[in-house]
Amino acid sequence: MKKILGAISPSGWQSISRLGIALAVAFLLGLMFGRVALALAITFGIYSLVQLWNVLRVEYWLRYRRVEAPPDISGVWGEVVTIISRIYRRKQFHRARVRELLREFRRLTAAMPEGAVLLGPEHEILWFNAHAGEWLGLRRKRDVGIRIENLVRHPTFVEYLRSGHPSEGAIVQDLETDRWLAFNLVRTGTTERQLLMIRDVSQEQQLQSMRKDFVANASHELRSPLTVISGYLDALAEDGNMDPAWNTPVQEMRRQAERMRTIIKDLLELSKLESGEHTQDDQPVDMAGMLTLLRKEVMALEQHPRDVRLQLESNALLKGVESELHSVASNLISNAVKYTPPDGEIELRWWTDESGAHLSVRDTGIGIAEEHIPRLTERFYRVDPGRARSMGGSGLGLAIVKHALQRHDATLEIKSKEGAGSTFTCHFPSDRVVQRSTGALATA
Ligand code: ADP
Repeated sequence: MKKILGAISPSGWQSISRLGIALAVAFLLGLMFGRVALALAITFGIYSLVQLWNVLRVEYWLRYRRVEAPPDISGVWGEVVTIISRIYRRKQFHRARVRELLREFRRLTAAMPEGAVLLGPEHEILWFNAHAGEWLGLRRKRDVGIRIENLVRHPTFVEYLRSGHPSEGAIVQDLETDRWLAFNLVRTGTTERQLLMIRDVSQEQQLQSMRKDFVANASHELRSPLTVISGYLDALAEDGNMDPAWNTPVQEMRRQAERMRTIIKDLLELSKLESGEHTQDDQPVDMAGMLTLLRKEVMALEQHPRDVRLQLESNALLKGVESELHSVASNLISNAVKYTPPDGEIELRWWTDESGAHLSVRDTGIGIAEEHIPRLTERFYRVDPGRARSMGGSGLGLAIVKHALQRHDATLEIKSKEGAGSTFTCHFPSDRVVQRSTGALATA
């Protein structure tokens, strides 16, 4: 009871005391005229009418509070009007702030050089900014709520959305506008919403293709003069009348010309792989047969490691482009031969399991220090440039391997220890494996 009385506001007490005084006056007047009940009833009636009037004024004001000033009422109703006014003003202030923030957000996203699309759990479009709208041809009224795959149907993009690997991103060319767009999905915290960021990478793509064209053209143009130089050097080497003092320089020139030929051949091969052109269709390739032949070629070399073993654990075929797969295997094998001393060993292994097919080339050669491993597939990256050059390598072998494997959805795993040898393993996905029902397995 004490608690309730303590909670009554001063204006509450004012109303209570007013009612008390009115009832007391009515009681006294009633006593004077001998009609107490009537006097009290009339007082209650008037009191109820005043309350009803106040309620009606408050209700009217609440309905039209945007235009009407708050009614001037004293007592409890006055307090109620003050509290409602305060809540209303606060709400209006927050609404204005949210509206201002929203306007600011729209201005910022419109000024952003990237496109942005907010996607729901089913990839339905919830919101997009001006660049995204322009690049993807989206219209707010028509396309909000529609799944983005139904509007942007490029296979690479659709595959990327469904892949569940948002970190990888996807680059797609819009064939209508020739514009190159890079897509990246960003998960927004714990919600199922995702933000699709889009960048216009046309300029970068153009520069990259100019670079590739330049390398391809320059390599192509260098081929003919080099053939002429090599021809004359061969003729000089065979010329019996030549001053013997020239023998060594001519031999060295022939060696260097041969190196240049290898570099040009590898550069052309790499630019063909990079161009993404699929000149040939995928065919089932007999990898076991290919490894057997490559081993024979190694054994026929003047210098080769003592033991070159063949471990063929599967006779499965591999769907792919034969020339590219041959390039993978021969580059890995020729590296193993180059970097393994004659008393070392090489093992070529081909096997399949539930994860797919695998090809590994293991050697007991010089090995590679750990810090070099992540950079080995970069163009012209060599652990020991002097040694690699003297071996006649172009520095492009592993770059070619990486690109050729990428075109076969495969990955390259490199394990190595300095001084203890290296293992290069190619992992191919299971959908590229074609099982053969017959055929004996071979080992050598
Ligand atoms: P290169 O033509 O110089 O061999 P690659 O791209 O084939 O170029 O190889 C890059 C570098 O990786 C080589 O220079 C060499 O240092 C290192 N490397 C490649 N394979 C092996 C291997 N089997 N053993 C040791 N080092 C290797």
